[in-house]
Amino acid sequence: MLFSDSVLSIKNIGKERAKKLEKLNIYTVNDIIEYFPRAYDDRSNISKIKDIEKDKKNTVIGRIVGTVQNIKSKNITISKVKIFDGETYLDIVWYNRAYIKKALIYSREYIFTGKVIEKYDKLVMESPDYEIIDNTKENLSNGRIVPIYSSTNKLSQKILRAIIKDVLDEMLDKIEEFLPKGILEKYNFCDRPFAIENIHFPKDEESFFKARERLVFEELFLIQIMLFKIKGFIENKETDINIEDKDINDIIEILPFKLTLAQQKVLEDIYIDFSKGKVINRLIQGDVGSGKTVIAQIVAYIVAKNGYQVGLMAPTDVLAKQHFEGFKKLFDKLGIECVFLSGSQRAKEKKEAIAKVSDGSAKIVIGTNAIIQDKINFKNLGLVITDEQHRFGVRQREDFGEKGKSPHTIVMTATPIPRTLALILYGDLDISVIDKLPPGRQKIDTLYVNSTYYERVYKFLKNNADEKRQAYIICPMIEENEKMELKSVLAYTQKLKEEVFYNYRIECIHGKMKNDEKQDIMDRFYKGEIDILVSTTVIEVGINVPNATIMLIENAERFGISQLHQLRGRVGRGAEKSYCILLSDSKNKASIARLKIMVEHSDGFILSEKDLELRGSGDFFGTRQHGIPEMKIANLYKDTEALKLAQKVAIDLYRKDANLDMLENILLKQKIEEIFNQKQNNITL
Ligand code: ADP
Ligand code: MG
Repeated sequence: MLFSDSVLSIKNIGKERAKKLEKLNIYTVNDIIEYFPRAYDDRSNISKIKDIEKDKKNTVIGRIVGTVQNIKSKNITISKVKIFDGETYLDIVWYNRAYIKKALIYSREYIFTGKVIEKYDKLVMESPDYEIIDNTKENLSNGRIVPIYSSTNKLSQKILRAIIKDVLDEMLDKIEEFLPKGILEKYNFCDRPFAIENIHFPKDEESFFKARERLVFEELFLIQIMLFKIKGFIENKETDINIEDKDINDIIEILPFKLTLAQQKVLEDIYIDFSKGKVINRLIQGDVGSGKTVIAQIVAYIVAKNGYQVGLMAPTDVLAKQHFEGFKKLFDKLGIECVFLSGSQRAKEKKEAIAKVSDGSAKIVIGTNAIIQDKINFKNLGLVITDEQHRFGVRQREDFGEKGKSPHTIVMTATPIPRTLALILYGDLDISVIDKLPPGRQKIDTLYVNSTYYERVYKFLKNNADEKRQAYIICPMIEENEKMELKSVLAYTQKLKEEVFYNYRIECIHGKMKNDEKQDIMDRFYKGEIDILVSTTVIEVGINVPNATIMLIENAERFGISQLHQLRGRVGRGAEKSYCILLSDSKNKASIARLKIMVEHSDGFILSEKDLELRGSGDFFGTRQHGIPEMKIANLYKDTEALKLAQKVAIDLYRKDANLDMLENILLKQKIEEIFNQKQNNITL
């Protein structure tokens, strides 16, 4: 048998069982080996019957000393039998398990684990797990620390245990150690076969902890190395990008507002970065509307002023263009040229822009990922800023970084993620947080209503427009299918135009529009020439129109919390009171819970925590969303220390042998390549 063989090659597994195993994502022999228990039940203390404790789980050994009686009572069948351990008798009962009568063999010895209760002044064990004592076979479900696996009710724990035991018996001595010896010794980790054996069937508590420690480390360590492989390992290398002139008075003077303390603190971090002579890799995290753009502008100003180029990349055309307009307005006054680059730009415009990027006359280059295309050569790129980082793949970040020699990089994101996840994803970055919103913001009121409120909601939007304020309507998505979606935005806008908002200026925007059209609509919306903008989620991130004060989200149940938070963040960006209306008729419990959470909370960090809670343990950390494979054993919540250690060891290893070519790292390299080839397509960080 090979590790890569299908489970069908295991004895006692036929097509039907294989199907059930597939439901648990188990396809190969190795999948079985790495299907770790989700919990354990310590049944290692075997009691004498006379010592058993009432109202607790007990494990006892006894001989069957009577026939099993099936007693019908009302709707249930009670199976009852007596056992004897040489000193004391005990009654055991099962409910609706008539087959027990055939399963238990008279006068044979069994081991039972079950809860003991008192009935009619007598102790009775109820519905225990039982196993025959057979000296040729190890007991898997009793008399030891017993593994409990996640399973479907179609596949009993007993069967799973037996399957896993069979595989271990055959494969255990073929399991290879792939962690380098040096690491095993330095951190006193147990070897892999021991770990695998004892994670499934621990000899004792100590062996279990030893096994778990190693496997948790192994898992986190492999993920960390895989991430380095994907996104490159960011070393704070020396840089010859020389930032001497850090005077920002000119730009501060023309800003329409005073920087908040939170913003100043972030700038100070970056100032210190500049003085270190090392390549900057910094993440700026700040909730929606906290004012990240101005930080990008000021830092871009410093870098441009010192003669270097700056690239700013945004995930959508619409946002890139908004940034371009904003930067241009500001930098025109400072005599610094900005250009816009986008994949769907007209050829002539694009050519001109590219020319200015390569001859260095454009100091600030703003666009979508068109910026990272090969044809574009910066003359002297000094800084790369990525807005809404979570929307980009890591690969893109790396490519972008390669344009110049090693430009400074700053990434900005509004999506708060749990600390441990941040450590994994951005462990190699320095992090600054904008922890306060600009002054004068009012709380956005969030209302959760069903479709019986349409009339009132429409009235509310009309009143809002009468007061010269604007609104977004996020269009109900009828189909997942893009074509249908498009049709529904257009048809819906038309309907609203004709039947509801005929006295108002209402337009729509969607992803399939040509850029010019999109831009035209957005320009008019920025200028206040459109009262109501019907939109798909193209406006989800970054869009900033402070005069927009209502966000109406239809079919709100279709969005996740972080998306809703982003959408809501399109309003409340000025001093005016703003509202977010979540419209939904969904009866789905999870959807209702999400929407209620949106009503109760506005802080992005709290929302992200609630979101993770709601997702449940399967994807507790939302790692899947970030493309990290689901953890088999590590618990990111509890294993923070292990994570830090794994990170440190991975970094040490990388510094010494980045390609893992040294002899002692060969097996590790093989293992990583194996996983990498399997997972490559799934990882989209
Ligand atoms: P985000 O962090 O979501 O990118 P933006 O940078 O778009 O936020 O800023 C949101 C709004 O807050 C913008 O209208 C911006 O002009 C305004 N803003 C940013 N900083 C300040 C400040 N210090 N004082 C007042 N308003 C500010
Ligand atoms: Mg932004």
